[in-house]
Amino acid sequence: MLPSPSFSRTIVSMDTFVTIDIIEPDSAQAAAESVERAFSWFSEIERRCSRFDLDSEVMRLSAQIGSPVVVSELLFQAITFALSVAELSGGAFDPTLGGSLEARGFNRNYQTGETVDSGLRTAAVATYADVVLDPVGSTITLLRPLILDLGAVVKGMAIDLAALELRSFENYSINAGGDIYVAGHGPDSDRWNIGLRNPRQPDQIFETLRVSNVSVCTSGDYERRSGNGFAGHHIVNPKTRRSPPAIASLTVVAPTAMVADALGTAAFVLGPRRGLRFLERQGVEGLIVSPTLVSHETKGFSRYRQ
Ligand code: ADP
Ligand code: MG
Repeated sequence: MLPSPSFSRTIVSMDTFVTIDIIEPDSAQAAAESVERAFSWFSEIERRCSRFDLDSEVMRLSAQIGSPVVVSELLFQAITFALSVAELSGGAFDPTLGGSLEARGFNRNYQTGETVDSGLRTAAVATYADVVLDPVGSTITLLRPLILDLGAVVKGMAIDLAALELRSFENYSINAGGDIYVAGHGPDSDRWNIGLRNPRQPDQIFETLRVSNVSVCTSGDYERRSGNGFAGHHIVNPKTRRSPPAIASLTVVAPTAMVADALGTAAFVLGPRRGLRFLERQGVEGLIVSPTLVSHETKGFSRYRQ
């Protein structure tokens, strides 16, 4: 029997292109149905967790200070995970930066093109310690006025849930704007070849990794800029409220996309030395490229080049 052609679909979600490829599925129809379900996680998570939609569950939560709010399982898990990365990173990662990001001009809804002004007051001193979880009642209490931002968690979460929908296929990839999960192998290799961009010439490949059954997530200082003249980019150090200057791009390879995505953002804030040590402590591999294109990496990273 001739192998069926590979199956590929792209949508726009979470302000980026999301592409799923399945290599030679037995049934194109089964592939289409699974990919549909995989994509629906992106829309569901975006609908609940977007800071750019005042009606999203996370923005309705951010408008209620001081009393417990019952939230969906999805939002509860996203916030729980974000708080654990905040703890692990000593607060370098902080999901309560929404107010700062909004004030710095990261407030455009890409779907409508409109600038979102939440009108919410936020306390400059608010941190992740002001978010209290109650797993029994599935509630979240915000102790101070703050705006939750789950931008460093949700793309990875969507990729992992999408991958669960594709588990009956052997060889597939999910690519959400450079945050990637790959299973099995690609079209012409025994693994997948993942090109990492040159952060100073993003249309050029800096180097290529060969990986399988892992997620590869990259954060770059070239990715998103604000519309209001803020000198930095979309990753902000909670302590200085500026963008970390010493890293141009940072790639993490980890078993899941949620872990790779969030640990990468945390390490970006920690900087090259502390960031790499942090990634090693968490048992994942990472590559950091400086603004002058000098790379530093964790001890085991080179295995992904073979
Ligand atoms: P990308 O969205 O390009 O994949 P990242 O995964 O690095 O980039 O996530 C960056 C996003 O994380 C920002 O757009 C913002 O929503 C959020 N963020 C910025 N700084 C921090 C921080 N210190 N801690 C947690 N989240 C952050
Ligand atoms: Mg990311």
